[in-house]
Amino acid sequence: MKKHFLAVLAALALIACNKEDKHTTPSTADFPYMVDQFYDLGILRYRVPDFEDLSLQQKTLVYYLSEAALWGRDILTDQNCRYNLRIRRICETIYEHYAGDKQTDEWDKFVLYLKRVWFSNGIHHHYSADKFVPECSREWFVDACRQSNLKEEDYAELLDIIFDPTILPKKICQDDGVDLLLNSAGNYYEGVTQREAEAYYAAHKDTSAEPLWIGLNSKLIKDADGNVVERTYKAEDGGLYATALKKVVENLEKALPYAETDEQKLVIEKLIEYNRTGNLQTYNEYAIAWVRDLQSRVDFINGFTEVYGDPLGITGAWESLVNFKNLAATERTNTLSANAQWFEDHSPTDPRYKKAECKGITAKVITAAILAGDCYPSTPIGINLPNANWIRKSYGSKSVTIQNLTEAYNEAALGNGFNEEFMLSDAECEQAKTYAALTGDVHVDLHECLGHGSGQLLPGITKDNLKEHGSTLEEARADLFSLYYMPDHKLVELGIMPDDEAFKAQYYQQMMNGALTQLVRVEFGKNLEEAHMRNRALIANWVLAHAHPEKPEVAIIERDGKHYLQINDYEGLRALYGQLLAIVQEVVSTGDYAQAKQLVEDYAVRIDPTIHAEMLSRYKQLNITPYKGFVNPVYTLVKDKKGNITDVTIDYSEGYVEQHLRYSLDYSVLPDINE
Ligand code: ZN
Repeated sequence: MKKHFLAVLAALALIACNKEDKHTTPSTADFPYMVDQFYDLGILRYRVPDFEDLSLQQKTLVYYLSEAALWGRDILTDQNCRYNLRIRRICETIYEHYAGDKQTDEWDKFVLYLKRVWFSNGIHHHYSADKFVPECSREWFVDACRQSNLKEEDYAELLDIIFDPTILPKKICQDDGVDLLLNSAGNYYEGVTQREAEAYYAAHKDTSAEPLWIGLNSKLIKDADGNVVERTYKAEDGGLYATALKKVVENLEKALPYAETDEQKLVIEKLIEYNRTGNLQTYNEYAIAWVRDLQSRVDFINGFTEVYGDPLGITGAWESLVNFKNLAATERTNTLSANAQWFEDHSPTDPRYKKAECKGITAKVITAAILAGDCYPSTPIGINLPNANWIRKSYGSKSVTIQNLTEAYNEAALGNGFNEEFMLSDAECEQAKTYAALTGDVHVDLHECLGHGSGQLLPGITKDNLKEHGSTLEEARADLFSLYYMPDHKLVELGIMPDDEAFKAQYYQQMMNGALTQLVRVEFGKNLEEAHMRNRALIANWVLAHAHPEKPEVAIIERDGKHYLQINDYEGLRALYGQLLAIVQEVVSTGDYAQAKQLVEDYAVRIDPTIHAEMLSRYKQLNITPYKGFVNPVYTLVKDKKGNITDVTIDYSEGYVEQHLRYSLDYSVLPDINE
């Protein structure tokens, strides 16, 4: 999906207006983004700017929806592997009750394991899906169980599962030629082969115009007679995960009176009914109601949603995200959309490829208030739902970017030494500190609201004409449209950019990333494959190749054996972006496959092995954890003597270990074994 950068417009406004508030959200400069770092994981905090400005009704709604979110944590943990809950609970018991010496290497190794189990919601890496094992010895672990008053029958069966890397080695198996279900540790099937599951789904597939998503909310098992049957996730009638889903329902019921609109009330009502009954027709009604609820400021996702955890891509992993609209950022995208025609008319593309009537796209920017289930601690920064194609077609979808999370990523990255290592000089680093976040947001907005919506294809041409190079060229077109306009004084007039200098930070970052630093994400010896990465390389390498031979606007220079990007003439660079925009627009508008292929092959695929090796080694020395996740803020109801809710406060001080221990204590009702 899309890669977004950071966000600070709203943050800047906040510093000015929130000073007198009692429960203030600190400004970006004062906020302790980094919480913890271990193994390959960095734990961050995120701010929830503007929470204090919500009405009491909205805050209370956020509160109860957050409670409904946190009650789903154990469901996801159990979906990931049937032994996860037991293993997590045993480790938590050791963490809290171990009577032995804690000043040892073995203890530290054990704590590392538990922290990783929390992060992954289980014993498999959240990203690679490979099982990880503790670095402490099995003997130490057994002794620790005894010294924590655990009974042998509680842990004996689990020791091999914890310590033997060959048992349940993969959460999701995607290898060719083996039974995907029997070789996956995920808990979506039990005792059912791939062939049996596929036969079941084929026989039960709903082929109507508005189909039920058969299998979305169930586990496939065999009954006593050996027939494949569904165990539905639901709160009533002995459903799977019933105890946790009842708690979700309870809190949705408490949220209901605080719904902002009738549309939102319907969303919550349908979700309550669906959680109770597991009825997929009700789910469809819920999903449609959710897409139609556009006026509420507070919004949320809660339930079995994304299907990446199921090797067959049918059953949803439980997740929740509660959020509210970021008004300042949404205002910004509205302004751009309202002026879309001006940008279209002034672009350097051939008039034949311009739209006579151009409507910008309004992107919605949201602020996350709580992350849970499959969105926690690791989380997406953009969301596009629902997943059912027929609902998207007939009723639309919601696509949002989560600005306060990108803010946290970017602010945390400022201190990690990356810019200091890769940027040419202090001047570029300073420029980035002041403007990179803001211009990163504006770049995303220009790319999404104007770039993709600009231009037109000649009659008879479709996007398919460019075949496998279509996405790379389309992304390049949107990026170039943004880059071409970023220095334009029009953006200062519209109040989008603060001054005529800010764009330089984004120009430097885009060129450095496209030509050099994005290579750290590619394994040595491989080519660039992903469309967004190819697009950035295409732009940067084309511009470098077409710079003036004697007085280059932009160049790669070598200093003390290291390569750096140098920009000598920012206005000249803008002109080069404009030239390339005209070329790329023509390729797309005319569906010129040969030219698209040429551009991609010349500039966007191959990597110079010397430069690649250098980038990888410089990056490695920075010791930056490749994966990040979050702790949530803590919301508390404030009540008067009569028990009326008078406020909801937000607190950011909870740490990573504290938070997980508290969630395990307060939001954990599922039995060890769920059948
Ligand atoms: Zn795009």
